[in-house]
Amino acid sequence: MAHAFKNCPNVMVTGASRGLGLQIVKSLATGGFSPGKIIATAQNPEGAKELQKLAAEHQIIHIVKLDVISQASIDRAASEVEQLVQEEGLNCLINNAGINIIADFETVTAEKMLENFHTNSVAPLMITKAMFPLLKRAATKGTGMGIHRAAVINMSSLLGSVELYWGDRANTFKWYPYRTSKSALNMVTRCLAVDLKADGILCMALHPGWVRTDMGGPEAPLSTEESISSVLSVIGGLTETDHGSFLHYTGEQLPW
Ligand code: NAP
Repeated sequence: MAHAFKNCPNVMVTGASRGLGLQIVKSLATGGFSPGKIIATAQNPEGAKELQKLAAEHQIIHIVKLDVISQASIDRAASEVEQLVQEEGLNCLINNAGINIIADFETVTAEKMLENFHTNSVAPLMITKAMFPLLKRAATKGTGMGIHRAAVINMSSLLGSVELYWGDRANTFKWYPYRTSKSALNMVTRCLAVDLKADGILCMALHPGWVRTDMGGPEAPLSTEESISSVLSVIGGLTETDHGSFLHYTGEQLPW
């Protein structure tokens, strides 16, 4: 279903300097199903050499500076994105940027919790608020729900599932800041799904699998290509029945 991106004029991805964000941009630009414009954001575009090289090769990629934890940066990026998308609006916002602060019961501090919350839970909400007028503009141009109209995709994690962290699975990845930040992101997603439904903007949370990136580490089973090929198929196939959902990269429902 990734070919559905052909009917999606404008896509924006946060954290596109490396890892999954960079792969989303790469796959969208080269996969034969490109959207009209790919807005690839990075907090330090000058240092994002691979993204710059990709943008030089594909004119549909537009790099926008965005530090997701700075409201001033979010506001500046929203103005730049508006200049790029104009009357078409923004069809697909992928809140992908994230950090993983590892701390167990012994080492966790309030500062570590708040830092992880700011990037992973608060920033996607603030970015969605800033992009809301553009998402709404895109959503007026279609019927049904999906990326042909407007969608917000929050890159979450299985590790944020409260339900799954119990029984046999309860002694792995004892990471208070990261796990709880993704649980909070899941609730942000549900809250957005309630509030943005009337405007026809689809909102959902997606787990990309365990992937070999700087965050996922070298022992992860999936390559970025494998994960993102599946992630883009899932996003491309989203309809109203997926509004407010938490999905695995394979498309299955995940428990909250
Ligand atoms: P990654 O390789 O560590 O890349 C993280 C990206 O987020 C980088 O582009 C980084 O930019 C950006 N970022 C961090 N803080 C930012 C800020 N303040 N402003 C703007 N950008 C910022 O991670 P990844 O594996 O690609 O993960 C992407 C998303 O998938 C995350 O939300 C992660 O939680 C989620 N996820 C990953 C896995 C996995 O196995 N990899 C599994 C489940 C969920 P810089 O280069 O400038 O630092």
